[in-house]
Amino acid sequence: MTGFDYDLFVIGAGSGGVRAARIAARYGAKVAVAEEYRVGGTCVIRGCVPKKLFVYASKFAEEFEDAVGFGWTSEKISFDWQTLVANKDREIDRLNKAYVRNLEGAGAELILERATIAGPNTLVLASGRRVTAKNILVATGATPFVPRHLPGHELSITSNEAFHLERLPARICIVGGGYIAVEFAGIFSGLGVETVLIYRGEQILRGFDDDLRNHLAGEMAKKGIEIRTKTDVTRIDRSGDGVRVTLEDGAAFGAGQIMFATGRIPNVVGLGLENAGVELTPHYAVKVDAYSRTTAPDIYAVGDVTNRVNLTPVAIREGHAFADTVFGGKDVKVDHRLIPTAVFSQPEIGTVGLTETEARKDGRAIDIYKTSFKPMKHTLSGRDERMLMKLVVDAETDVVLGCHICGPDAGEMAQLLGIAVRLGAKKSDFDATMAVHPTAAEELVTLREKWQPGR
Ligand code: FAD
Ligand code: NDP
Repeated sequence: MTGFDYDLFVIGAGSGGVRAARIAARYGAKVAVAEEYRVGGTCVIRGCVPKKLFVYASKFAEEFEDAVGFGWTSEKISFDWQTLVANKDREIDRLNKAYVRNLEGAGAELILERATIAGPNTLVLASGRRVTAKNILVATGATPFVPRHLPGHELSITSNEAFHLERLPARICIVGGGYIAVEFAGIFSGLGVETVLIYRGEQILRGFDDDLRNHLAGEMAKKGIEIRTKTDVTRIDRSGDGVRVTLEDGAAFGAGQIMFATGRIPNVVGLGLENAGVELTPHYAVKVDAYSRTTAPDIYAVGDVTNRVNLTPVAIREGHAFADTVFGGKDVKVDHRLIPTAVFSQPEIGTVGLTETEARKDGRAIDIYKTSFKPMKHTLSGRDERMLMKLVVDAETDVVLGCHICGPDAGEMAQLLGIAVRLGAKKSDFDATMAVHPTAAEELVTLREKWQPGR
């Protein structure tokens, strides 16, 4: 020991903090973790996990419809929101307890209080207790951003509240065009809520491949989701049990709820970072180097609070790399390139690598392979839904630079495509791989014809 109370004090028991604490403790460090809300963090408590459970719930409506084409009769189908919420809460409680057990089992001390930085190597807890630590890890995550200049913004909800609504509204307005907006549009729509999505840009999911964005928007529209682009909300007024939403062009409509999914901001406010000389980026994230070191000695930061790539596996990897480097005597940097990702929209998106636009940016010659087809299941279900697959290939080297999929199980495919793309697989390697038949994924290894513009 070093004369400090702890070798490591972690602020925040979310994805990144928990992993760092467990690994550091395993290396023999004396570790404390402070958590002000619930152990598990955003992903477990009000992010990935409950979201995916809601996605599953919302898909059953179409599954029952699709089953009819396969000979099933599905009458007297009904859905109870309260049952879903209660069952989801039970699962989240279970996971929360498992996280607590794992942390304590690893030998870390759990402090269920807010912690802030009082100065170099010094923290103060909400109870007023001061503690010292040789190293501090800031893993405080992020919070939903709501445009507070908007009149009536206080009538809105965010994803935090969406997980605990007392009842489903008949109609919801979702603002934003990113991951959370499109995922929740699918959830609410699937659960029978009339859904309007308002996005200020040209097309939802800015930053994703344009073909994917257009394809998904088309498929969402087929499901009855009203997507209004190139407009924004200018005011929200109370109206009966719900709200009245006014848009830039003066159009106004009523909804039971309005939900902002307009990004998340790093949790740095009131954290005392300035007391130790921790600098922020222009976007109010904690500034870190490749080893997650902040500008202050012995203070590190991982996960969403650093606003690098805001995904759970990334926060976990950053937390692990930090612990390996600082307590394990290793030299581990996280590689933030080629991160596969899924959007659990309906239909789902799975993607890894460069979009067509990114690949063309530096004047590189590229070949595009793409296909859009009706998934086999829908030959009998009769559903009018298509699946899109696209490969972006370097024309000179034949290396596959990007894979983009919109359709059932796209996320599962992206995980495996991530390995191939990371290994530098060429299109010829895809071609040489035997197909798994009959699957949708086999299209990825049977794409032979280059896409010609205008075809
Ligand atoms: P968090 O998990 O947010 O943990 C931070 C913790 O710090 C919190 O528990 C917080 O209470 C605590 N804290 C903050 N300040 C203090 C303080 N001063 N003292 C004590 N404790 C404090 N990612 C995916 O990869 N896949 C998905 O499907 C996915 N779905 C998502 C769905 C939603 C609705 C949301 C909101 C996010 C989703 N994400 C998803 C993103 C993912 O949840 C985050 O990237 C991940 O949780 C970040 O981990 P973290 O450790 O940085 O922070
Ligand atoms: P995103 O950054 O993905 O999207 C934010 C959206 O809100 C964008 O469409 C943005 O528009 C829009 N927006 C931002 N500010 C305003 C404003 N003032 N007025 C109107 N619109 C605005 O954030 P999310 O909140 O959807 O999700 C946060 C992050 O959590 C994601 O980026 C992702 O990293 C992670 N996440 C991952 C999931 C997964 O892995 N499946 C699921 C959910 C979240 P514009 O494009 O014009 O900037």
